[in-house]
Amino acid sequence: MKGSTGKICEEPFCRNKKKRKGKYLHKKCAKHIMQEYRKKHPARNYYQHLKWSAKKRGIIFTLTFEHLDEVLKATPNFFKKTGLLGKSLTVDRKETHLGYADGNIQVITRTKNSEKYWAEDRHYKFTGPLTTEQNTDDLPF
Ligand SMILES: [Zn+2]
Repeated sequence: MKGSTGKICEEPFCRNKKKRKGKYLHKKCAKHIMQEYRKKHPARNYYQHLKWSAKKRGIIFTLTFEHLDEVLKATPNFFKKTGLLGKSLTVDRKETHLGYADGNIQVITRTKNSEKYWAEDRHYKFTGPLTTEQNTDDLPF
């Protein structure tokens, strides 16, 4: 078995050392083990991504992985349709102020998400009457 006893990651062209865990030697390096894990568990990966970006944006996050997994499974090919294009899918909060919570998320397209932004009063705080003291430089558009 060529390569299986070597100490270098078995991923083609990778020259990193295999990851060792106690007596067990993995077939690949830490980087490629992670990459493989993400491929195998895209929902897990997406959950981490949501959690991280919610934290960054100061959004409540009480969502459980199990619930997210259920919602994503109900959308065929979700992971083939995520991305930055307007038609791609994204996880939205039904009630914005409740944050990412079980029962409060839905899968919609990115375009729809921004339509929703304008349909609701999410932008109200930016378009409400301005007093002279308010700094208009903070407007997002
Ligand atoms: Zn590798």
